[in-house]
Amino acid sequence: MTIQPNSIEGRDRAYHLHSYTNAKALERDGALAIERGEGIYVYDASGKRYIEGMAGLWSVAVGFGEQRLVEAARRQLETLPYYHTFSARTHGPAVDLAEKLIRMAPVPMSKAYFTNSGSEANDTAIKMIWYRSNALGKPEKKKIISRIKGYHGVTLASASLTGLPNNHRSFDLPLPGIFHTNCPHFRAFAQEGEDEAAFVARCAADLEALIEREGAETIAAFIGEPVMGAGGVIVPPAGYWQAIQAVLKKHDILLIADEVICGFGRTGEMFGTTTMGLEPDIITVSKQLSSSYQPISALLINDRVYQPIAEESGRIGTFGHGYTGSGHPVAAAVALENLAIIEERNLLGNVQALAPLFQSRFKALESHPLAIEARGIGLIGALELAPREGFATGQLGPKLAAVMQENGLFSRAIGDSLALCPPLIITEQQVGAMFDIFEASLDQFQ
Ligand code: PLP
Repeated sequence: MTIQPNSIEGRDRAYHLHSYTNAKALERDGALAIERGEGIYVYDASGKRYIEGMAGLWSVAVGFGEQRLVEAARRQLETLPYYHTFSARTHGPAVDLAEKLIRMAPVPMSKAYFTNSGSEANDTAIKMIWYRSNALGKPEKKKIISRIKGYHGVTLASASLTGLPNNHRSFDLPLPGIFHTNCPHFRAFAQEGEDEAAFVARCAADLEALIEREGAETIAAFIGEPVMGAGGVIVPPAGYWQAIQAVLKKHDILLIADEVICGFGRTGEMFGTTTMGLEPDIITVSKQLSSSYQPISALLINDRVYQPIAEESGRIGTFGHGYTGSGHPVAAAVALENLAIIEERNLLGNVQALAPLFQSRFKALESHPLAIEARGIGLIGALELAPREGFATGQLGPKLAAVMQENGLFSRAIGDSLALCPPLIITEQQVGAMFDIFEASLDQFQ
């Protein structure tokens, strides 16, 4: 394709460094500009329509072009376009959203704290935990355990939590004091002769060995996504979270549930915490919180976390943390309206109704000669391609994603896995159409 210098693509190439992109390849090939969206579809500048099978980046729950969110933003922009929540200032949208989230929380939580992205929420979680340990007179209790293939963001601390090599390589990360334990992907990491129960027992035993090696008194928290998303859509085996949580409880280690993808219905319950039976002390949410119409994220913290922080801030005189945009009124108003839509339209019911079809279509693809495994739960899933002669690991996925794109479907290649995570408003007929394209693209790819 020839790229005209004055086109969006041409100026993009001239002026814009992209996230998560091979800049040299982009200089050569250019990017695809998306112009507008409607429901589960987005349209490029030529008018070509694509099913947004990833809801953007796992986020646009209510679909594109939702006028109620446009109206909520407009109303708030007219009334109070900005105010902060530093010191003793507050405003209605932040308070309403904090109350809503505390009432919705899947386990008892005390307070909501607002940030602007998933990365900032997880970064803030670490700072809160360090502050808490100091407040409790345990300054040595600061280390954090995360997991191989876990995804928690890209700030210095949250990229360190992320257990993917590309988030560390050439960035001089991870930071010291952050450790990665096993990924609960049974097919990929089970040892010879190990069944799921034995695999789970080994994950728990390895975690305990790490804790004992480092000294339990130095470990503050464990962070995990109830179901891993960006690491390849990995649903842990039965009993995994129970075994992990037993170890954490035994050693007085806090649990952070990163619900940035799972939160607000994705896994078939309002929170992945419920789906997976977690008892977290901190929950982080973003993405589907506002359907990403506005950048906003939040931490929900229980009394074990809140009370020491309150005490310490009393002693010091302030909890010295906060973003200009924390609890931004427009973002909060949009999030509130988005949550109202999720509830009024019973999108959770839609996930529960369509999950069997969605998952069975994925499962059916597993027997395709090119595939090795289908994984998923609720309305999130992935198909992993079998290794093929002549292709390095991680080469096949993007190639198949390009075929799907050509055929009008956006998926996400994670190595050689192709993920789908569509808007929660998707219909039965649209799920069928999406998998028909997936299947045809696979056949074409043979
Ligand atoms: N946590 C999880 C589970 C995520 O999937 C993501 C983003 O994909 C993040 C955190 C980081 O969120 P953000 O990109 O908003 O910083």
